Amino acid sequence: MQLFSSLVEDDYVSISMNEESQTGPNTERIDDFQDDQKISQKDLLDLASEYIDSISEELRPVSLRIHDNPELNYGEFIAHETLVKFMKSRKGWKVTPSAYGIATAFIAEFDSGKKGPVISYNAEYDALKGIGHSCGHNLIAICSVGAALAASAAIKNFSLPGKVILFGTPAEEGGGGKIKLLKAGAYSDHKADINLISHPGIVPASALVRTNAYMNFRVEYFGKEAHAAASPWEGINALDALITAYNALSVLRQQTMPGDIIQGHITDGGAAPNIIHAYAAGIFVVRSLSKSRLEMLRKRVNNCFEAGAEATGAKLKMTEVMAYDDHVPNKVLGVICRKAFNQLGREEIPTTELDLIRGATQASTDQGNISYMMPSLSLGFKIESQDGPHNPGFAAAARTRKAHDAALKAAKALAVTGLEVLLDERVLVAAKEEFKEMLEGRGR
Ligand SMILES: [Zn+2]
Ligand SMILES: [Zn+2]
Repeated sequence: MQLFSSLVEDDYVSISMNEESQTGPNTERIDDFQDDQKISQKDLLDLASEYIDSISEELRPVSLRIHDNPELNYGEFIAHETLVKFMKSRKGWKVTPSAYGIATAFIAEFDSGKKGPVISYNAEYDALKGIGHSCGHNLIAICSVGAALAASAAIKNFSLPGKVILFGTPAEEGGGGKIKLLKAGAYSDHKADINLISHPGIVPASALVRTNAYMNFRVEYFGKEAHAAASPWEGINALDALITAYNALSVLRQQTMPGDIIQGHITDGGAAPNIIHAYAAGIFVVRSLSKSRLEMLRKRVNNCFEAGAEATGAKLKMTEVMAYDDHVPNKVLGVICRKAFNQLGREEIPTTELDLIRGATQASTDQGNISYMMPSLSLGFKIESQDGPHNPGFAAAARTRKAHDAALKAAKALAVTGLEVLLDERVLVAAKEEFKEMLEGRGR
């Protein structure tokens, strides 16, 4: 069997053996896996490739319709309608539009009828204000649709067990659509065992994309008005509190670890120079390499804001706006995905150790929150563009035929990654074991 012989050869095994804990997937256990599967990864890849190529011309108008109608932050009505209509037209798929009370979220489900793992894919389709689909989410949408449909085709062809779920997840660009769906119980209700997604970029492909943890919060200080010349001692200066905190943050910045980022801007700086400022406010963002490191950074940042309150007597209020966890890729799934991707030619994803370096980015995504709930992958694929994401040039690139083909190549690799989980239950056991270790703070 291809899969486990490939795992034995793979760097993933040596990585797990080098970690402090030896309780994870290890060579001994993996060596026990026998070459006992009748269906090989090549069989799955051939079928997924053939199937995805056969629907390429149906996926192209879906991608273009989303691209040509850029919609923002829970307002993705055209994208939602287009994708729902498309999934409803596929045989064997049950589609729930406006799922969990979110108008532009949807869930499409394919059940093999045989008990088994539940593999899931996330489709994104939101755009950016003023610069259209400059994050290429139209490509993410068709990649996940293609992968999910190819997986269902292979289930039928090879009589595999389990289910495939496609989650339509709106508002990735700051609205946290996946977090809303997680909180509403969408992933747990459907018993999703793993979740897969992709993202286009201009850097070389990576099966192990890692993103930063991110937190965005509003800070307010409440003071007391007084005549700023005649009786300033009667007032409490909220702006002074905020400036004191801002200066303390500027000092803290020099003492933080690489990858820790603190950003902020003042939205309210008082009413007039001759009134002691009774109200001051701002929006602040902190980022770090991981969720746990972000929590440590946030404590130190909070101390700065409390220092402002302490120094002036103003009352402090902090309100969280949005928090995205870092994305932790599952290496077991990454090995399978990489092997499938590399068999499709053109460019090579390197082995796990190198790919973990290649896949690191300072950007953030709500797929990060998914990666703390179940084994997850975000396959980064390269499209040809002079400009990177969040630039209008990248939006133009995301509309080209070449970018379409790149997205479908990613879809083939993601289809096979999910199918391997359905084919051999030991894959899921190994992926979940790694996931558990990650949650316990080991194996990272
Ligand atoms: Zn983006
Ligand atoms: Zn994006």
